[in-house]
Amino acid sequence: MRSADSDRPRGHVLILGGTAEARGLAAGLSGRSGLRLTTSLAGRVSRPRMPAGEVRVGGFGGADALAQWLRAHAVDAVIDATHPFAEAISANAARAAAQTGIPLLALRRPGWEAVPGDRWHGAACLAEAAAVLPALAGPGGRIFLTTGRQGLAAFAAPALDGLWFLLRSVESPGPPLPRRIRVLLDRGPYSVSGETALLQDHRIDVLVTKDSGGRATAAKLVAARTLGLPVVVVRRPPTPTGVPVVPDVAGALSWVSGLPVPAGRPRGAADTCP
Ligand code: NAP
Repeated sequence: MRSADSDRPRGHVLILGGTAEARGLAAGLSGRSGLRLTTSLAGRVSRPRMPAGEVRVGGFGGADALAQWLRAHAVDAVIDATHPFAEAISANAARAAAQTGIPLLALRRPGWEAVPGDRWHGAACLAEAAAVLPALAGPGGRIFLTTGRQGLAAFAAPALDGLWFLLRSVESPGPPLPRRIRVLLDRGPYSVSGETALLQDHRIDVLVTKDSGGRATAAKLVAARTLGLPVVVVRRPPTPTGVPVVPDVAGALSWVSGLPVPAGRPRGAADTCP
């Protein structure tokens, strides 16, 4: 945000966070003079990596409540920098922005692309990923599940009771869980050598992942390719219609710079001086 007569940015930006990109954006905006910056976290993990600037934690209570929060806190712009699979908060942000007229940008890291040697199988959702596992892994097959601790009910279906799962997640999962499972609590970034050793040590037959994109968790894809393992890749939900999207922090920073000065805001002395 810039005034016509000054390079001084102003206003209140809300970042919907929970990703490395959201933290990178907060770091990039935190030095801008006159800009109030708040990051919102869902509160899912007990020890979140904290961004620069102000932080609030917990759900808003739906789209209407988010719109109220934006008005009550005089927010001038919202950047949805949540995970590509955080579908509900992105939809709420789009509805709240439409209600309030507050500009909204989605920051979405690009998805992963298959390269020669990859044995990827696309799935529209976790249930579809679970359904292909018995045929892909074979009887007694061993699955490396990296889709997080939510939605594990899909893999707890009786049809999958013959499979063994290694689940990696940041926090412990709750039931329902697959019948035969080992949980590995860990948080990226991961290395190719580490991921290769993990796949070999656990004699993994199939990797399951969301198309999260980004470098922090991409090493498992290289390791699977090297070992010739099939990978079930859950496709992303679409970004809400009409919301502009940038692929990286630099794009979001320049979007903020191009925003108009917030209407009706008191102008500070610095803004009127030459
Ligand atoms: P979700 O399904 O889209 O959101 C469920 C509800 O959680 C939302 O309706 C909202 O509650 C609240 N919420 C989500 N993100 C929030 C935020 N940044 N600030 C305040 N409230 C938030 O999201 P999710 O998939 O559970 O993910 C939760 C958070 O974890 C996200 O912020 C996301 O960036 C991060 N994350 C998700 C994944 C993933 O695979 N889904 C992976 C890594 C990180 P109200 O309706 O009450 O406002």
